[in-house]
Amino acid sequence: MELYWHDACLEHDTGTGLWELPGRWDWLDEPEPHPENAARLRTFRHALEHGPVAPHLAWRDGRFATDEELGRVHAAEYLAALRAACATGERVALETNTVVGPGSWDAIRAAAGTALAAYEAVESGRTRLAYALVRPPGHHAQRTRPDGYCLVNNAALVAETARRAGHRVAVLDWDVHHGNGTQDVFAHTDEVLTVSVHMRHGPWGVNHPQTGGPEENDRGNLNVELSLGAGDTAYRRALAEVALPAIRAHGADFLVCASGFDGSAFDPNGRHNLTAAGYRDIGREVAALALPTVLTQEGGYLRGYAALCLHALVEGLVGTGPLLDDPLAYVPDDTQLVDRDLARATSGRAGRDPA
Ligand SMILES: [Zn+2]
Repeated sequence: MELYWHDACLEHDTGTGLWELPGRWDWLDEPEPHPENAARLRTFRHALEHGPVAPHLAWRDGRFATDEELGRVHAAEYLAALRAACATGERVALETNTVVGPGSWDAIRAAAGTALAAYEAVESGRTRLAYALVRPPGHHAQRTRPDGYCLVNNAALVAETARRAGHRVAVLDWDVHHGNGTQDVFAHTDEVLTVSVHMRHGPWGVNHPQTGGPEENDRGNLNVELSLGAGDTAYRRALAEVALPAIRAHGADFLVCASGFDGSAFDPNGRHNLTAAGYRDIGREVAALALPTVLTQEGGYLRGYAALCLHALVEGLVGTGPLLDDPLAYVPDDTQLVDRDLARATSGRAGRDPA
């Protein structure tokens, strides 16, 4: 398995504030780092470089994306405005919790280009699995809108590039938040199947009108919305009973995974209860699909535990047994929730046209 990395991804400085809300809060004695920060990505890299799964991994250099490449999934006016916002010399909030600053344009181009470098390795046949360990994340970024820490949709860019190369593409997103940006980019077509398994959170703010609910499902989109509290069992069954059968039924010959770890039981941005073992199972399920697969890094904000979850996911992907103990795992019984959730996800999907 190959890992793709670009140092410029660390140059996107999201600053401090009240958790994800930038700026000064007079009643707060010391502002906190924005949760989507360079330290989390460095921590993820360190875990894979120094953890016991390291011998299974080959590290490769990413690259910058070109304007033409970014334009495959975003409107030219949006990209021009984004670039201008990054060039003001100051940190600018584009929406509630999504900021850019002087290093952000290089980071954005590096994240997108490094995802494409991972794609090129898989497309060439050099490896079947390639993971782009990048930031800023992308799965909320829509064709004309930034959203939820995301500026350019790296997973959608890989999917669209693979589609143009003649592949039948599916996107599988297990970040705890709805992959609304990817759904938006491919809303006009059912050629690319977008599947998102996430917590029930509904729309947020003006840049996130999508609900993430099953009412948005059609032949090209499948939202598997799981109740708050869902954990390893719910995700295992959501994949085995709904998401993976849909990907097979789509006839996918290329898979893109939007890989987030904010579904963990300890993540401040999620209300789900996955443990490292749950992510290891996800890795095994993805590997068992035996498709050419590119993974892009999305969320995951309690960085130490998210790094452990990434390590476990990679163990599953490369087919090792558990290599690291989970000193924090707590597994609530989520089996009561999942029957209803999966029934809702599958009802009414057949026969509906894409939006
Ligand atoms: Zn997320």
